[in-house]
Amino acid sequence: MRSKTTRLVNHPTISLSEPHLSGIEWEYVKDCLDSGWVSSAGSYVDRFEGEVARLVGTRYAVATTSGTAALHVALLGAGVKQGDEVLVSSLSFVAPANAVTYVGAHPVFVDAHPYTWQMDVELVEAFLTERCAKDGARAINTATGRPVTAILPVHILGHPVDMDPLVNLAAAFDLAIIEDATESLGATYKGTSLGALGIAGCLSFNGNKLVTTGGGGMVVTNDEGVAHHVRHLTTQAKSHPTEYIHDEVGFNYRLSNIQAALGCGQLETFQDRVNAKVRIAETYRETLRDLEGIRFMPEAEWANPVYWLSTILVDAAPAFRSELMSGFHRNGIEVRPLWQPLHRSPAHSDSDCLGGEVAEDIYARSVSLPSSVGLSDKDQQRVIEVLRSHSATL
Ligand SMILES: *Cc1c(COP(=O)(O)O)cnc(C)c1O
Repeated sequence: MRSKTTRLVNHPTISLSEPHLSGIEWEYVKDCLDSGWVSSAGSYVDRFEGEVARLVGTRYAVATTSGTAALHVALLGAGVKQGDEVLVSSLSFVAPANAVTYVGAHPVFVDAHPYTWQMDVELVEAFLTERCAKDGARAINTATGRPVTAILPVHILGHPVDMDPLVNLAAAFDLAIIEDATESLGATYKGTSLGALGIAGCLSFNGNKLVTTGGGGMVVTNDEGVAHHVRHLTTQAKSHPTEYIHDEVGFNYRLSNIQAALGCGQLETFQDRVNAKVRIAETYRETLRDLEGIRFMPEAEWANPVYWLSTILVDAAPAFRSELMSGFHRNGIEVRPLWQPLHRSPAHSDSDCLGGEVAEDIYARSVSLPSSVGLSDKDQQRVIEVLRSHSATL
C-alpha cells in the first residue's frame, strides 16, 4: 500500500514496477466468464503452459499458484529431502530460501559476485572441494554431516548467474540445479533461456513481474519424470481418476483458468515488454553516464539480460542512501532497496553463508529505480531529474 503522504504530493506517483495490461487480456478473461471455465481446469491453463514452455524452450511446463509454490514443488520434484543442504544465493528475495525450508532442507547461502551481483560460483566450488567429503558421488558437508543435494541459483534483476561452472560442479557432485528464474523470464545465458539450464526452472507471474497473471507461477523442465511429479504434487497428489485416493502429501497449487487467460494475453506482447525494460535501462545508463558516484549492475559478456529492474549502487556512505530514497519518496517516486541478504535475515538466522560481505555491501548501497513496462519518457525524465538534484551530495 502506498502511504497517504505519497499520494498528497503534487506530482503523480511513479511506481517501481506495476502491472502493464495490453488490452488483449480482457477478451480472454471475458471468454472464461462467458464460458463458465473460471477455476483450475480449462483450456487457458494448457495453452499458457504450452506457450511458456515454447518461450523458455523446455518440453514441459506446470502452472502453479505462485513462484514460491513453483520453487516448493520443484525442490520436491528434483528429489530434495528433509535434512539435505541446498546452496542458495544470499542476495535474493526470500522466497527460494523459504521454499528450501518448506521441504525440511537447510539453505547454505552463497555470497554475490562483486562484478555480476549474482551467486559467486567460485565460492560454491571452494565449498564443495574443501569443506565437503565425498560419499560415493555425493557431497557431505563435513561441518554438519548433512548431504548437499542441490543448488538453487537465483538470476536476480533479469541477469543470469554464470551457469557453466555450476552445471559442471552439479555433474561432479551429483547435485540437482533448480533455477529461480522468476525475475528473468526471457533472459538468456550463452543463448539458452534461463529456467532451461537445470533439472527445473521456476517462474513467477505476480504483479510486479514482466508477465503477470495477478498471481501465479510455473515450473519448466525437460525431464518428463519431474514434470509428472510436480504436476501430481500441485493437484493434492490424487492418484486415482475417480476415487479420492492420494499416494503422498500434495498441495493445492493449481493456477486458475482466469489467471492463465490473463497470462495468455500478456504473452502476446511479450517481446514489447522486454523491449520496454531494455529501453528503460538503456535510458538510465545513457542519461546518467556522466553522474559521478553511482554505478549500474554490470552486464557479463555471456549474458543477455531483460533488466527486470534498473538498480543503481550509490558510492557515497550507505547512510546517504536513505536520504536519497526519502528525496524520491517526497517527489512521489517509488524506489526500493534490494533485499536484506538472506544470511542476515532473522527468518534464516541459523543458516550458514559462504562469504557474505559482497552481498551486504551491494544491499547497503542499492536503490532500484522505477522500471515499469508502461513507464513514460516523461516520468522517467522526472526520476532522472530527482536523482540529478541529489547528485551534488553523492
Ligand atoms: C518474485 C520472486 C519469487 C516468487 O514470487 P511469488 O510472489 O511467490 O510469485 C521468487 N524468487 C524471487 C527471487 C522473486 O523475485
